Amino acid sequence: MPKAKETVLEIDLKALKHNFEYIKSKLKADTKILAVVKAFAYGSDANTIANYLQDMKIDYFAVAYVNEGIALREAGIKTPILVLHPQPINFHALINHCLEPSLYSTKVLDEFIAVASEEKQSNYPVHIKFNTGLNRLGFSYNDVYSITTKLHETNVVKVKSLFSHLAASEDLNEKEFTLQQINSFKEIAHRFSKKLGYQPMLHLTNTSGIINYPEAHLDMVRAGIGLYGFGNASEIDKHLIPIASLKSVISQIHNIKKGETVGYNRAYESGGYEKTATIPIGHADGIGRQYGNQKGFVTINNQRAPIIGNVCMDMIMVNITGIDCHEGDEVIIFGQDPNASQFAETGNTISYEIITAISQRVKRSFLNR
Ligand SMILES: *Cc1c(COP(=O)(O)O)cnc(C)c1O
Repeated sequence: MPKAKETVLEIDLKALKHNFEYIKSKLKADTKILAVVKAFAYGSDANTIANYLQDMKIDYFAVAYVNEGIALREAGIKTPILVLHPQPINFHALINHCLEPSLYSTKVLDEFIAVASEEKQSNYPVHIKFNTGLNRLGFSYNDVYSITTKLHETNVVKVKSLFSHLAASEDLNEKEFTLQQINSFKEIAHRFSKKLGYQPMLHLTNTSGIINYPEAHLDMVRAGIGLYGFGNASEIDKHLIPIASLKSVISQIHNIKKGETVGYNRAYESGGYEKTATIPIGHADGIGRQYGNQKGFVTINNQRAPIIGNVCMDMIMVNITGIDCHEGDEVIIFGQDPNASQFAETGNTISYEIITAISQRVKRSFLNR
């Protein structure tokens, strides 16, 4: 592949296919797969990723917000789209774009039924979300009776699925808690379906749940981070390929003397004759200030160059003393080695945060489209 000549997020669709097939290999043949493509498909490119997965016959998509779902419809996505966290103000738009809401509280359920009847809908597909321990969004077990009673009184909506979300599926020290969540979801689903009189689809697991709790795959799984190449554990990461590589270029090299300083607030002071490189990527591109002051590093000609001084809005400076490199050379921020998870650790965070932080200003380029 050609060397980067500017800051670019390179997205390899063959890696996406590999990850998709790895996840699929963990499932029974008839288990459906929902691809979570919220937040620009975890910072990559939602339209391209969703179109690619649609061609691979993915069963479902999920986004967080209505505007993300609308963007997918406008990009030609016909596959069902679950909106995980819709706000009632957007319910008309949601219906007009055939998006399917997660209904997680009595207020949201009532408002959705009201809007859907104004829109003259019948049997509009909805998904009922239960809280089984994350305490973020969802109805509780005690709401089953009132929801099913309400649903019997209307034909405006039809429950397509029941779901819940695991709080610690990646943490095997929390196995007991997770098993409790799985059991409580199964009980809720059983009681709900019995009262409802028909059987909606059931789904519970995210990527780590898919890997660690096969007994909880149910009718469908919800894969996010795994599709993008991370498994929240090194044994799983081995089987996955990060789809996105963040690359840049050396804009300028400076030779500085002992006592000279680098960057805003003079945060770095040179200990001797040193060589620095300025790279066109900064906190406005997603490299937060926590990576500055020698926490994070970039890779130039296979050697590590620590980020020195404060991260600027549009630039970082790195120490290239002893590294054979020139202005115009390629710089790797993350990709396969280090991957985004390893890079994120240097800033005390996780793969999810660094990859979704790469701003829309950074050009996306595609391999194996
Ligand atoms: C984001 C999200 C997922 C995907 O989780 P991963 O750990 O990225 O696989 C699944 N379900 C819900 C409800 C989510 O919000």
